[in-house]
Amino acid sequence: MSMFKRSPWVIHYDASSCNGCDIEVVASLTPVYDVERLGVINTGNPKHADIFLVTGSVNEQNRSVVENLFEQMPEPKVVVAIGICAISGCVFRECYNVMGGVDTVIPVDVYVQGCAARPESIIDGILLAVGILERKRAFLRALKGKMDTMVIERAVVEDAPEILALQKIVYNNEAEIYNDFSLTPLRQTLPDMREDFAAKIFIKAVVGGKIIGSVRGWVEGSTAHLGRLIVHPHFWKKGIGTKLVREMEAAFPQARRFETFTGQKSTHTMEPYQKLGYLPFRQEKISELRERVYLEKNRRGL
Ligand code: SF4
Repeated sequence: MSMFKRSPWVIHYDASSCNGCDIEVVASLTPVYDVERLGVINTGNPKHADIFLVTGSVNEQNRSVVENLFEQMPEPKVVVAIGICAISGCVFRECYNVMGGVDTVIPVDVYVQGCAARPESIIDGILLAVGILERKRAFLRALKGKMDTMVIERAVVEDAPEILALQKIVYNNEAEIYNDFSLTPLRQTLPDMREDFAAKIFIKAVVGGKIIGSVRGWVEGSTAHLGRLIVHPHFWKKGIGTKLVREMEAAFPQARRFETFTGQKSTHTMEPYQKLGYLPFRQEKISELRERVYLEKNRRGL
């Protein structure tokens, strides 16, 4: 088991299983099949988990729980759909309240067949997941070594799914800072983001084919508004935010003034703007936990 560089932690969620697959997951984790002997640890906390085991199909009731657990897991992470219900919805797929398998709402990396899935198959699935996890970790490490190939350019609507996934990773960090998981960027849907593309300009930072940062902007009168400056947490403190903001400013050559806002504790978002000369000019209380700090900058030479 040399691939186990560290103990992978798993979290299990029963979406709407008949409990058949759950019993087999529990059997895999407990002493009869004992996947813990391989170093795998079961946790109840998504923030500690690397591998997400889901049983049962997704419906309107549990959709937000599946998405929420997934979003709270740190990167990199792997999803395993266990049993035919989690794969496709099985015989329930045409029920009025069933949306389908897990991959209707989050990306799935490993599919474990069976009804119920057998513990041997579940353990195989977990081992496959560990391999994928290691590859994802290696990919992120490799990207860090390719920073000199970074490209900052206009994003297109086809980038929406990748930017939305990145937005959820970054704003999950924000939510932890403010202990408030109701942030609007965490609730944004793909259709909604596609609409944003029709009304706003998106700039992206790309390394090795992967989007690691983004910002969006739009103009009102002589003011260009910049919003949702996001950089993958693995790539903070590398000046990527500053480059994104600079590129966005260049996209609005007629703007006389630039404006943005961020949370009062979001120093990693505020820093790139302040480096480029943005100054706070207004503060607004949003809730008991959050205040919005507005920043502005006038274009030099106009
Ligand atoms: S795949 Fe079979 S055993 Fe598993 S949850 Fe669905 S119906 Fe139950």
